[in-house]
Amino acid sequence: MQPMIDETHDPARRSFIDSANNPESDFPIQNLPFGVFSTSSRDPRPGAAIGDQILDLLEACRHGLLPQDIPQEVLAQDSLNALFALGRGPMRNLRRALSALLSESDSGKAVRQLASDLIVPMASCRVHRPTRVANYTDFYAGIYHARAAGALLTPENPLPANYKWVPIAYHGRASSVQVGQGPVRRPLGQKPPSDAGRPPDFGACERLDFELELGFYVAGGNTLGSRIVVEDAGNHIVGFSLLNDWSARDVQRWEMFPLGPFLSKSFATSVSPWVVTVDALAPFRVPAMDRPQGDPRPLDYLRDTEDQATGGLDIELKVLLSTAHMRSKGESAVEILTSNARHLYWTPAQMVAHHTVNGCNLQPGDLIGTGTISGPRDEELSSMLELTAGGTRPLTLPSGETRSFLADGDEITLRGRCRREDFTSIGFGLCTGTIMEAFPFSSA
Ligand code: MN
Repeated sequence: MQPMIDETHDPARRSFIDSANNPESDFPIQNLPFGVFSTSSRDPRPGAAIGDQILDLLEACRHGLLPQDIPQEVLAQDSLNALFALGRGPMRNLRRALSALLSESDSGKAVRQLASDLIVPMASCRVHRPTRVANYTDFYAGIYHARAAGALLTPENPLPANYKWVPIAYHGRASSVQVGQGPVRRPLGQKPPSDAGRPPDFGACERLDFELELGFYVAGGNTLGSRIVVEDAGNHIVGFSLLNDWSARDVQRWEMFPLGPFLSKSFATSVSPWVVTVDALAPFRVPAMDRPQGDPRPLDYLRDTEDQATGGLDIELKVLLSTAHMRSKGESAVEILTSNARHLYWTPAQMVAHHTVNGCNLQPGDLIGTGTISGPRDEELSSMLELTAGGTRPLTLPSGETRSFLADGDEITLRGRCRREDFTSIGFGLCTGTIMEAFPFSSA
């Protein structure tokens, strides 16, 4: 099922919810991302974001407003796993139905009449992690990141010999995936010895970092022993959110050889609360990254003509930093980098095909990270490690403060936005985290 442009992308379509018609809104009627929310009187449940409001999907279903292929029990849940398990077809029908229900035309009448039951202001809601993440895998598909980070972590071998053949990944920790908007505790850990021959240092991470990534969620998945071929992989991806792969660089440097990152990553991963569907993203698909001459052609199981033509995504990404000092002075967050999802060397479909080629089973609601999405330019380096050249060239902020890595009280916000002429721009909302000081510890 290829993403397709239809009436739901019509820029002339407007919602009866005014805030959704503001061109600055991340959630116009052309978007309609899914998430999980609660209020003082509503238990956590699935919703769709529209402007600065949320449509309660469970209530909409109870009123008989949703398509027949969306059973009420998949919405009477505190996660989107059951909804995603229905697969791409029903998800597409659901988004189409919501687009009509929320439009300012006659078809929006039913929701307008029941608005007090169905529509809740976002400001009065709590958002939750969109799925119960059973498995979280983080790829390394940003080639500019792999090269820049590799040059700092392993200068003798910046881009591993396998990089252009294998979509590299590690298995991340699912239990510490949290919805972005919360605090992130600075981790403790072992750090490289200050002098060769001495024992490693132990204590609070001193090189705490973020990584700007996209995450995507698995729809139906596959049974153990089967595989998802690259031509079919698009049917298994429901949608995307922003993902911050928090990283303790000093811990990472000491622990990661030979088996890869462990405690340097497993303390926290933040995702944005709203899952922007592949259907909403249809107008913003682009060809897969143009491989430089001389790069190997991917093996057949990773190569599909359609995926090469439309498997990339044009999503503008940025990272904002606000320090505790800036907030105390009422200063707004400062943009420290911009990038674009076009800079991924492997497409999401290639990641899914590779992930399952050995028969590994993906499950509905599983989370897959793309890897840090840096670009070729200096302002497109998408972690502090890269931006400050391993801490040797600190950033100077407008407040006069400097940063090599993140300090306690720093708040990092990821943003994503799609734009294309003759289409309505859509966004991803916020993925935010604020660094809290480490728990007290004894180094003895
Ligand atoms: Mn990562």
